[in-house]
Amino acid sequence: MSMSRTKRGSERLVVIGGDAAGMSAASQARRLKGPDELEIVAFDRGHFTSYSACGIPYWVGGDVAERDQLIARTPEEHRARGIDLRMRTEVTEIDVAGGRVRARDVDSGAESWTSYDKLVIATGARPFRPDLPGVDAPGVHGVQTLDDGQALLDTLARTRGRRAVVVGAGYIGVEMAEALIRRGYEVTVVNRGKEPMSTLDPDMGRLVHEAMEGMGITMVDDAEVTKVLTDDGGRVRAVATQDAEYPADVVVLGIGVHPETALARAAGLPLGVHGGLLTDLAMRVRGHENIWAGGDCVEVLDLVSGQLRHIALGTHANKHGQIIGTNVGGGYATFPGVVGTAVSKVCDLEIARTGLREKDAHRVGLRFVAVTIESTSRAGYYPDPSSMTVKMLAERRTGRLLGVQIVGREGAGKRVDIAAVALTAGMTVEQMTALDLGYAPPFSPVWDPVLVAARKAAKAVDQLA
Ligand SMILES: Cc1cc2nc3c(=O)[nH]c(=O)nc-3n(C[C@H](O)[C@H](O)[C@H](O)COP(=O)(O)OP(=O)(O)OC[C@H]3O[C@@H](n4cnc5c(N)ncnc54)[C@H](O)[C@@H]3O)c2cc1C
Repeated sequence: MSMSRTKRGSERLVVIGGDAAGMSAASQARRLKGPDELEIVAFDRGHFTSYSACGIPYWVGGDVAERDQLIARTPEEHRARGIDLRMRTEVTEIDVAGGRVRARDVDSGAESWTSYDKLVIATGARPFRPDLPGVDAPGVHGVQTLDDGQALLDTLARTRGRRAVVVGAGYIGVEMAEALIRRGYEVTVVNRGKEPMSTLDPDMGRLVHEAMEGMGITMVDDAEVTKVLTDDGGRVRAVATQDAEYPADVVVLGIGVHPETALARAAGLPLGVHGGLLTDLAMRVRGHENIWAGGDCVEVLDLVSGQLRHIALGTHANKHGQIIGTNVGGGYATFPGVVGTAVSKVCDLEIARTGLREKDAHRVGLRFVAVTIESTSRAGYYPDPSSMTVKMLAERRTGRLLGVQIVGREGAGKRVDIAAVALTAGMTVEQMTALDLGYAPPFSPVWDPVLVAARKAAKAVDQLA
């Protein structure tokens, strides 16, 4: 086994993971320090770097024509910028005391140690894959990587039947339901929760359920998948729950992820209750001066509840990478935390949320009011206004905004960003009613739906004061 050492006089940064967080960190560090000052070695066990998994549903659905459109920067482009990128190379051990990592060439099996002065862990998240009979049968697919997306597209091209079952009704499940509808499949979504989109309160999830049924999707809630049934050739033919069977020519799993921290755990690095790495504000692993971590493998501070959470989103991973790269490169940057904003869509239905749900607020002992309003995306007299429902939570007595959920058609989803800013600023719902938002009939009613909700919430807070 060989051991690679730094060139004399320069430091070596080693990055584990070549996607959003890892390569943002490496690229930013390279911008700040040239190759004479900082050698950068990055490892990824897969085939691709800097790719958008977020785009997979739109590639599978046909909105994006080519896989390569989802790749922001190839390994060759990173190498041309002075990053020694080692693809198909898996880091199998971090030796914290020795300041080195052990890596294995996935194809040849050859192993070597590489020393580091600074280390970035950006290993992402691993999708849940339930340990069920038949789950590894041909025709059952995850959608975590570009290889997964290609494998699913290959199956869709080969499959004559037109029945698809999606297991899971989080945002990846609902986005994949849309992709399969667009490919001409009859889609059934089997979901363990009482309603789809458990990141919403159930009353808002019900709106998603109804809208998806209106699109011709069969929604099966409150159901636990017990096995994947196969035909004589061993290929998937149905998904079984405790009380029914759903015929399937293809099955897509979208049941969530957990932080990929096996390496970090084995190395004795600090993990939180959700299994993610714990960092300080500069994204430095707690208690380790020369190790940083970011993206889907870390826990983040929820600025509204004050608690640590694991939220696997590309928007955070890119920011973490940028911050880590700045700090590794000799600058200073911090990541204060998140307010829990997310937006997604299924066909023409837009779904958005930020802040706390009712159950989150209860969990942290907050007393609150919750109001729901119906409004439209445009002035009522302007052509094609679409409807939307806005739910808002505010703290009793103080009136502090706690959370917003929006379900509606075109123009609904990104309105959640108004609430994300208000949450970050710690505004009360009363203060929100005076926000100077843009208005013209094609863009909103004279009172924007978010302001209508804020007015109703402010009134409810007043009545209970
Ligand atoms: C279908 C889908 C849709 C999504 N849509 C959205 C969206 O709309 N909005 C949003 O914000 N987010 C979305 N996401 C989430 C987003 O893609 C992730 O949050 C983001 O990719 C996380 O980046 P990361 O760098 O932390 O981890 P990853 O992208 O998971 O990258 C980790 C990398 O580390 C490598 N690796 C892991 N362990 C090792 C090891 N031991 N040795 C070498 N290499 C290793 C892996 O091969 C991988 O390339 C979506 C995800 C999926 C799957």
